Amino acid sequence: MIEIIFLGVGAAIPMRNGTNAAYLVRIGNERILIDCGPAILQQLDAAGISPAEITHIFFTHRHGDHALGYPMLMLWYETCADERLQVPTLIASAQTFEALDMLMGVSYGPMDGVTESAPRITVPQESIGRTQIHPNIMLTTVPMIHSDFAPSLGLRIETRNQFGNHVIAFTSDTSPNDNIVLLARNAELLVHEAAYSATLNPEYAAGAYGHSTAQIAGRNAKAAGAKRLALVHIDAMYEGQERVLIEEAQREFDGHVFAPVAGLSITLGDA
Ligand SMILES: [Zn+2]
Ligand SMILES: [Zn+2]
Repeated sequence: MIEIIFLGVGAAIPMRNGTNAAYLVRIGNERILIDCGPAILQQLDAAGISPAEITHIFFTHRHGDHALGYPMLMLWYETCADERLQVPTLIASAQTFEALDMLMGVSYGPMDGVTESAPRITVPQESIGRTQIHPNIMLTTVPMIHSDFAPSLGLRIETRNQFGNHVIAFTSDTSPNDNIVLLARNAELLVHEAAYSATLNPEYAAGAYGHSTAQIAGRNAKAAGAKRLALVHIDAMYEGQERVLIEEAQREFDGHVFAPVAGLSITLGDA
């Protein structure tokens, strides 16, 4: 059984109660946190999750809404955790790690070895990376197209055997690109950014400012053969109009489309 908890679903400036996009995926004893925005400690607390249970943290890219909580989370491990606790394994590209280290440097400086002791897995930024974190859990990182300053990676999680055969895909922040279909091929759940609406802002129909639309998300879900599509990172200017974005994606994609709220938890059963 796999559980996905939407800790936050918002854009850089999120809608009220949306908070910045971040997710926790529970698979057996593994707990994968995806992104770490400025309110990550409050987001985890609101969902009843202790940082102590996180085993891996994947950082999609360095933008503040995805990375500014890193020093705060490390501070928790420094000051609140049992000293026997294993600090989570950090997974990111070299470019993103460089930014995380700068953030820690200006926030708290050296942390008595807590940050330094966290195991790291550096994944490629320019090509597809595969990281096996458990004999039956494979993480595939796929380059997206978002920002030269903050190159981003999508994440595909595949499970098998005792966890059942499941595929979940997270695009992170991205403009439309061919890698998204590769990332999401046959995904049971595709979590796709839809910062903009092609219906409400036709001038953004081809994507804008390194981001996608709900229409693009729907097209990618269909092309990838995904079953369910979650629209996230929706710009705050659309507050109260999420329905328009859902219908926009539904015109492209026959599967289930939804716009999760922060705190929503989804369970994927056995295949
Ligand atoms: Zn973002
Ligand atoms: Zn971004």
